[in-house]
Amino acid sequence: MQIAVTSKLDESFQPVPIPSDDDWLRSHKEKGQTMKAFERKTSKAVPHATHKTIYIQPIGSFDHPRVISFNVIIEFVRVFFPRCEVELLSTIDFSKDMKYREKDGIRQYQTAGFYKYLSRTRHKRNSRRELVCVAITMADIYVDEVEDWVYGQARIVDSLAVYSFARLDPLYPTSPQTLFSSPLTDEHRVIMIRRCVKILLHELGHLFGLKHCIYYICLMNGANNETEMDRQPLYLCPICLRKLYSTFHFNVCDVYEKFANICEKYRLEEEHKWYWKRLDCIQNPNK
Ligand SMILES: [Zn+2]
Ligand SMILES: [Zn+2]
Repeated sequence: MQIAVTSKLDESFQPVPIPSDDDWLRSHKEKGQTMKAFERKTSKAVPHATHKTIYIQPIGSFDHPRVISFNVIIEFVRVFFPRCEVELLSTIDFSKDMKYREKDGIRQYQTAGFYKYLSRTRHKRNSRRELVCVAITMADIYVDEVEDWVYGQARIVDSLAVYSFARLDPLYPTSPQTLFSSPLTDEHRVIMIRRCVKILLHELGHLFGLKHCIYYICLMNGANNETEMDRQPLYLCPICLRKLYSTFHFNVCDVYEKFANICEKYRLEEEHKWYWKRLDCIQNPNK
């Protein structure tokens, strides 16, 4: 583990660039989270006894030609958080708890409504197994008048999160009609898989206690726009990796190898290359 967070960092990790006007770090005062601060943090999910399951709760319709299979996304989650089980729940419809509004002709659901629903229905899931639960929806989501859209959000104290596919389609913001009649090309499928996986891993990272990262280009960077979201990689920087390791005690090389293979399987070539190169840096630190 020590080598994974010290060896040849300059070859694998880049510092966060100076934020431009519309970037997350320009509008949010992020102090960063040291290892000590992470360890002191009491509200974070830690797998224990029977509580090891990440529940994924799809909400609303997914009957769309451009949707990415949940099973593909979940494969990545299983590898990234190896001590957890991941269980996909049956899709449910929006409930009356879920407040929405129409903005520019688009229906947006408030994130608070998803938390209310997931809390209220906790007893219907297996509460002895549940560690965290994440809602997924194709609807656009918002927090309040200030954060008037988000890719995802986590409520750490309740071990709940929600994320939306709505803005992850490379054709966004094309009209819903055009989207529906546009078949998913291979190129777009790769972009969609990358984005769908990263937002879910990012929100799960929050539930496991990771705050936004200000140290390196990292899965845990905040994202205010598509450019920033696309810049978030599918890997953790050494600081965030050390934090996650302190909870999971996984074999880093084993996780990296499996993640590289799954990236290859779904043609995420950049990520596949990064993981193999990083593995080489860890396994041959003096080469
Ligand atoms: Zn975040
Ligand atoms: Zn980081």
